Amino acid sequence: MANVLDAFARHAGKSPMEALFYWSGGPIEVAPGVYFASMFSGVTAFDTDDGVVLVDSGLARLGPMLSAMIRQRTKAPIHTAIFTQGHVDHAFGLDAFLAPSQPLPKVVAHRAMPARFARYRRTAGHNRALNARQFGGSVREAEGSMRDDYDTFREPKVPPNVLYDERVDLHVGGLTFEVHHARGETDDHSWIFCPERGVLCPGDLFIWAVPNAGNPQKVQRYAWEWADALRAMAAKEPRTMCPGHGGPVIDDPVLVRTMLVETADYLDAIVDATIAAMNDGSPPHVDVVHRVAIPWSDRPWLQPLYDEGEFIVRNVLRYFGGWWSGRPSELKPPPREALAQEWVSLSGGVGKLLDRAEALSEEGEGRLACALADLAIEACAGDREVGRRVARLYRRRAEGEESLMARNLFLSAAAYAEEGRPFR
Ligand SMILES: [Zn+2]
Repeated sequence: MANVLDAFARHAGKSPMEALFYWSGGPIEVAPGVYFASMFSGVTAFDTDDGVVLVDSGLARLGPMLSAMIRQRTKAPIHTAIFTQGHVDHAFGLDAFLAPSQPLPKVVAHRAMPARFARYRRTAGHNRALNARQFGGSVREAEGSMRDDYDTFREPKVPPNVLYDERVDLHVGGLTFEVHHARGETDDHSWIFCPERGVLCPGDLFIWAVPNAGNPQKVQRYAWEWADALRAMAAKEPRTMCPGHGGPVIDDPVLVRTMLVETADYLDAIVDATIAAMNDGSPPHVDVVHRVAIPWSDRPWLQPLYDEGEFIVRNVLRYFGGWWSGRPSELKPPPREALAQEWVSLSGGVGKLLDRAEALSEEGEGRLACALADLAIEACAGDREVGRRVARLYRRRAEGEESLMARNLFLSAAAYAEEGRPFR
């Protein structure tokens, strides 16, 4: 996890907009007896007559700090915890909030969550590699050094013990907690509304940035159901919102509604345009990506800081289409090394190919430049000079990217290329 946090720290404070997404702070009393604190991800504690209802719990390694923050305001035992999703930054820190002598609290989550933890166990090496790449990691980070860290977050120390399907209403110490299921960033996602306090906890369905509905390396996201959930949350007319990432919005129902509805509109626009393009004769996926106009907004909560619109198009394509790109030769493609060698030979050698890639890069044609760079290193794996030139091209590409995902995957490609490796 170290490189995950370092990556966020590197980007923190770069601009006021990013500070919204990377906001850390608290505890803040956001409504009477309701405390919010955030460190990478947020937790919300509702102080009821019967004890604390805690929404989310942070990363395992940050749980103790989040707990200390919340405990500045209430020492009451945790009566119930609710996990908005099974991701490591929401469901893994609960043990730090529990007193050693106290009985286990109710831990409420959607029914799909245990299957997620089983998947983490089954694909631990795969997840280690893709998380290293997502955060700009090197070959070494992808292949080994995160092993110890990774083993600690295959499932939480205190797992859920109450599973629900579509909705459950909890009544604790005079307060009501509506727990609603919605597939969004994950298939096990929940959002929580406390009507007596007017407080909404959307989890990562709202993160002060373009929704993480496209993530290139991760399992399916559900942008269309996500948009529906945002509208359902707005219909509750919350006064205060305590998001999965970024700071809270306190006692400003108009702003909360605007943020939820505009984010829903953003997702719907991408989903509708992608499906319209698919319905127009089902063109290859790469054509659809270039046909969908990504909505632009100057709203601080709709900036592509983490994920981005083009990747959301891809996730819609994956769900409603198959795995095939639609490019005929890619139905049963040749090995990439063999194809690259053909192109290198046709272009008159790898030097000429890279000269052209560098010229394209100078002209701002990063997409074309990197397509040629891939061919060069795939044809010449192990050639350190080729690797260095390819790495330079990918570092320049990364500089021009806004989203953390694109920037870091390109930086990771550069790290592989430095070692003469074509991203494997
Ligand atoms: Zn999160």
